[in-house]
Amino acid sequence: MLNKTKWLVKEAKLRIKYMVNKDCIFCKIARGEIATKLVLETESVIAFSDINPVASVHILIVPRRHIESVVTIKSEDASWIIDMFSVAKKIVKDMSLDAFRLAFNGGRYQHVLHLHMHLLAGGSVEWSKL
Ligand code: 5GP
Ligand code: ZN
Repeated sequence: MLNKTKWLVKEAKLRIKYMVNKDCIFCKIARGEIATKLVLETESVIAFSDINPVASVHILIVPRRHIESVVTIKSEDASWIIDMFSVAKKIVKDMSLDAFRLAFNGGRYQHVLHLHMHLLAGGSVEWSKL
């Protein structure tokens, strides 16, 4: 019973830190509940290959915190956003990408309501499908 209580407290703390949304697909990926082709992960960010790529390199960079979109970012989210760019920078360096683009979809263009950055590289990008 004590273990169960400890577990519940730990879960509650994680929910507050990451503001997890239990129905969100990217929260599930960040928690390891859905398999993905992992590219890089840190304590605050996870990067994985897009399931439906529009370029030969198409990586999603996702904060573990459930921030919904560009328009709901709050000033207290600043470190999560900086960490997303740090991960992008590391991937660009690790993959020696000499040409790349970073994109955020918003409004009707955004299908998954958990903030994510698209890292696109490797030739042409099918923009109309993004
Ligand atoms: P959005 O249109 O919201 O900017 O982009 C969402 C992206 O997430 C799409 O490019 C889509 O292919 C990708 N995506 C959606 N579900 C999954 C999934 O379960 N796994 C992975 N790896 N990518 C996903
Ligand atoms: Zn989420």
